[in-house]
Amino acid sequence: MLGMGLMAGPANSDQSTFHNVSEDYYEEPVKKLPVRKFDVVVAGGGTAGVVSAIAAARQGAKTVLIEMKGYPGGTVTEGGTTLHSFFNNWKPFPGVKKRQVIRGIPNEIMERLDKIGGWSGFGDMTVGHRDSTNTVIDTELYKLVAFEMLVEAGVYVCVNTLLVGAIMDGSRIKGVIVESRTGREVFYAKSFVDCTAYGDLSFFAGANYTEPNDYSVANAFGMGNVDIDKIFKYFADRDGILEHAEGRRSGVEDMTIRVQGNFMVMPDDFRREAKNIGLQSATTTVYDNYLMFVKANLKLSVSPTDRDAVAKAELELRKRQYKTLELFRKYFPGCKKAFIARTAPRLNIRRGRVIACDYDITHEDVIEARHFDDDVFVYSYHDLFRFMVKGGGTYGIPYRALIPKGIENLLVSGMLITTDKRAHMSTRNTVNCMGQGQASGTAAALCAMKNIGTRDLKYADLKKALLEGGVYFES
Ligand SMILES: Cc1cc2nc3c(=O)[nH]c(=O)nc-3n(C[C@H](O)[C@H](O)[C@H](O)COP(=O)(O)OP(=O)(O)OC[C@H]3O[C@@H](n4cnc5c(N)ncnc54)[C@H](O)[C@@H]3O)c2cc1C
Repeated sequence: MLGMGLMAGPANSDQSTFHNVSEDYYEEPVKKLPVRKFDVVVAGGGTAGVVSAIAAARQGAKTVLIEMKGYPGGTVTEGGTTLHSFFNNWKPFPGVKKRQVIRGIPNEIMERLDKIGGWSGFGDMTVGHRDSTNTVIDTELYKLVAFEMLVEAGVYVCVNTLLVGAIMDGSRIKGVIVESRTGREVFYAKSFVDCTAYGDLSFFAGANYTEPNDYSVANAFGMGNVDIDKIFKYFADRDGILEHAEGRRSGVEDMTIRVQGNFMVMPDDFRREAKNIGLQSATTTVYDNYLMFVKANLKLSVSPTDRDAVAKAELELRKRQYKTLELFRKYFPGCKKAFIARTAPRLNIRRGRVIACDYDITHEDVIEARHFDDDVFVYSYHDLFRFMVKGGGTYGIPYRALIPKGIENLLVSGMLITTDKRAHMSTRNTVNCMGQGQASGTAAALCAMKNIGTRDLKYADLKKALLEGGVYFES
C-alpha cells in the first residue's frame, strides 16, 4: 500500500507536468521605481566583478556592485580548484625566468589572505607541467577578504540583489533594474561592467551573443574527514600521480596541497562508476582532513541558461556528489568517515553566453604569445594538457576584447569572453578573469569621469592608470 502510494504520488514525478506553458499573458502594470545614481555599475560580484568594482572605486568613481548571492566571490570560491595562474609557466622551458605576471589587485587579495592564514602561498608544482605554481585559497576567508576590500575601496555593495533588466537610450545603457527585498529599483550610471558570467547585463542591453554549451557543469563540493596524504600515497604506490603540488597546509609549509591521481590504476568497478558520474580526480586543499573541491561533471543537452534543464541537473549533481562520497569511503584509505562539508549554492558553469566583442581572442593569439597595441594585462596559463603558451611566455589581453559590439558604455569581464573553446581554456581561468576585472573597472571609471564612451578612452590614459594600479606588462 505504502509503496503504491509513493509510486502514484507527485514525489516521483519528473516535473514534466509543470512544463506546459499556458497561453495566457499577464500585463505588468507600469510602476514608478526609485532611482539611485552612480558613475559605474558593476553587475556580478564574482571572480572578475570583485576586482572590477574595487578598481573602479579606487579611481574615484562612485561605484555600485550588484551580486545576487549573499557574498562576493563567485566561482573562484565555488567551482575552481586552484587559481591558475599568477606566474608564467616557466618550468617546462629550461632557462626561462620565473616571473609573476598577474599583480595589482588580485595579488593584494592574496596578501590579505596571507595575513589571516587563508591560502597555500604560491605553491610549487612538483609533478605535472600544465602550471608551474599552484595557488589554493580558503574559499570562506576569500569571501570575507573580498567583501572587506570592496567596502574599504568605497564600493556600494548590493548583495542579495538580482539584476533583472537594462534601460537603453539608443546604443547607450542608461540604467539597470535590480530586485531585492528592498524592492525593485533603478541604478543609473555612466559606465557599466558585465561580470555576471552568464552575460545577463549584455543580454538585457541587446548585445550579440552565442551559447555554445560546450562544457560540462558541476557542483564542486568540499569533503571533510579525509586524509590527502594517504590518497597521495595510494596513487604514488601505484605509480599513478599525474599532478602534485606542495605549499602551506594548516600552517605547515611544503605539504601536499594538490593531487591528481590517474584513475587507470583504480579497480574496474571504481573506474566504471567514476566514468558514469563524470568524476574528476584533481583536488586541492589548504587544510588537513579536507578536500576543498571535488567535482562530478554532467553534460547538459541544452545551454545552462535553461531553467528547467538546470533544475534537473541540480538534483542529478547532488546524486553524483553522494555517489562520489561512497566511492571515496570505499576505495581511498583515510576516507572511511568522509562527509560532504560544503556544496556550491547552485551548479557551476564554465560558460553560458559568450558576448560578441570588438576583438575575439584566438587560440593562435594564446599559444603564439601574441601581444597587442592595447594590451591591458598579460597572462601565461593554458588549461589544455597538450597546449602551452610559446616559450613559457605570455600573451596580451587587448582592451578591445572587453568591449561588446554595438554598445557605447559597456565593458565585460570573466568567462563570458572568447568564442574559440581552446582559447577560452586559457581566458576563462580565475586569475585571467581577475586581470580582466582590474582592466574593465579602471577603464569604466575613467570613461565615467571623462564622460566618454568606452571606445573614446585613450589607451595611454588607461595604461598609465593600470600601471599605477600595479598591473604588470611585458616590456
Ligand atoms: C567546475 C569548475 C571548475 C573550475 N576549475 C578551475 C580551476 O581549477 N582553476 C581556475 O583558474 N579556473 C577554474 N574554473 C574557471 C573559473 O573558476 C571561472 O571561469 C571564473 O571563476 C569565472 O569568473 P567570472 O567572474 O566570469 O564568474 P563568477 O565568478 O561566477 O561571477 C559571476 C557572479 O555574478 C553573479 N550574478 C550572475 N548573474 C547575476 C544577476 N543577474 N544579478 C546579480 N548577480 C549575478 C553570480 O552570483 C556570481 O557571483 C573552473 C570553473 C568551473 C565551473
